[in-house]
Amino acid sequence: MTAKKYDAVIIGAGPAGCAAGLKLANEEVNTLIVEKKKLPREKACAGLLPEAAIQVLEDYLNLKIPEKVFEEPSTVGLVYIPPSGVKNAVLKLNYKLYNINRVKFDSWLTSEAESKGVKILQNTRPEKILFKNKEIILKTTSGETLHTSYIIGCDGVKSWVRHQIFNKNFPHAPVYQESYPLKKEYNNIVKPYFYIFLNSQVCNLYSYIIRKKDKMILGVGDFNSKKNSKEIVNKMTEFKKLLTKELPAFTQILNSNPVRQLWFIPFFTPEIGLENILLAGDAAGFVNSFSGEGIRLAVESGVYAAEAVKKSIIEKDQALKYYQKNVENLIDFCNKIRDYTNNLTEHKRENYVKDLKAIIKVAL
Ligand SMILES: Cc1cc2nc3c(=O)[nH]c(=O)nc-3n(C[C@H](O)[C@H](O)[C@H](O)COP(=O)(O)OP(=O)(O)OC[C@H]3O[C@@H](n4cnc5c(N)ncnc54)[C@H](O)[C@@H]3O)c2cc1C
Repeated sequence: MTAKKYDAVIIGAGPAGCAAGLKLANEEVNTLIVEKKKLPREKACAGLLPEAAIQVLEDYLNLKIPEKVFEEPSTVGLVYIPPSGVKNAVLKLNYKLYNINRVKFDSWLTSEAESKGVKILQNTRPEKILFKNKEIILKTTSGETLHTSYIIGCDGVKSWVRHQIFNKNFPHAPVYQESYPLKKEYNNIVKPYFYIFLNSQVCNLYSYIIRKKDKMILGVGDFNSKKNSKEIVNKMTEFKKLLTKELPAFTQILNSNPVRQLWFIPFFTPEIGLENILLAGDAAGFVNSFSGEGIRLAVESGVYAAEAVKKSIIEKDQALKYYQKNVENLIDFCNKIRDYTNNLTEHKRENYVKDLKAIIKVAL
C-alpha cells in the first residue's frame, strides 16, 4: 500500500476531467486524475461539436483541436425534420457542427493534460472515501491511499462521487446508437448533415443520422425508456421504419451488421457538489437535453471547478462557494432546456422547425 498526497484529485479522464486537470496544471496545482478504464477508451457519442465548444477550448484552455481528431467531412450542416416529415425539413443556414472522432478527441485531451504535468492513474477506481480533519482520503482499487484537500467528480452520468455525496439515484435518459459501414457508392445518399428527427411517435428526445468518414450513425434518445430495457432498442426499430418510409434510399445501407452502443445522458437538475467536493460535466448533470450536447458543458464546468479550487486555496474558503457562482448560468441554461424538452408536444416540435429563422427548404 502506498500513500500519496495531491492538492486536488479528479475522478474521470473524460472532457470534464481533462479540462479541470489542464486548468489546475496551468495554475500550478498538483493534480492527479484517477480513471477507471485503460486509455484510450471508447465513449458512445455522436461526435459533434458546436462552434461554442471550439471557442471554450480556445478561450479557457488555449487549445486548438488538431486535424487528426476530425472526421471527414470535418463539418456538417444541421437539418431538422419535423413530425410532418422530410417534405417540411429545414437546413439551418449559416450553421455548422464540427465532426470529430470521439476516441481521438478524448485521447488528445488526455495527452494534453499529461504534457502539462497532470498525472493520470488508469485502470483504477476510488472505492472508499474518508474524512480526517480537513483532509479527504481516497482508497483506490489499485491499493493506493490518496490524500487531498479537493475532489472534482468528473466520472460521468453514473458518477460514483455524486453517489458518495447524495446517496441517491438521479434520472438519466438512454441514447442508443447503431453505426453502419458506409461504402463509397453511398456517399451521394448520406449528405454531410446532422439529421435530427423531432418525431415523438418514435422518441421523445430525438432520433438522428450522422455521416462519418466510413460510417453512418443512427441514434435514438428517449427519457421515458427504462434503463437497460429493450425499449430503447425497439425505438431504433421504429426509427428505421420511419427512415424506410421517409428516406427509402437509406435503407440499403442498413443491410449490414451495425456496431451497437448504449449509454445515457443526465436528465436532472444539476447538482454541483458539497464543500470541497465538486461535480463537473455529466456527473453534475450539465447537458443540453434538447440536442444531447454535453462536451462543451463538460469542458466549461471542468474549467470552472478548477478555478473554484484555485480560489479556495488562496482565500481559504470552501470551493463550492466559488463554483456555485461560476456555474450559475450553466445551471440555469440546463434547467431551461430540460423543462422545454420535457414539455415538447408534437405541435411544438412542428412549430419549432417552422419558426426557425433564416431557413431554406433542403433538398434531401
Ligand atoms: C450516445 C451519445 C451521444 C452523444 N453525442 C454527443 C455529441 O455529439 N456532442 C456532445 O457534445 N455531446 C454528446 N453526448 C454527451 C457527451 O458524451 C457527454 O456530455 C460528455 O462525454 C461528458 O463528459 P464528461 O467528461 O463529463 O464524462 P465522460 O465523457 O463520460 O467521462 C467520464 C470518465 O470517467 C470515467 N469514470 C467513470 N466512473 C469512474 C470511477 N468510478 N472512477 C474513475 N473513473 C471513472 C469514465 O471511464 C470516463 O472516462 C452524447 C452522449 C451520448 C450518450
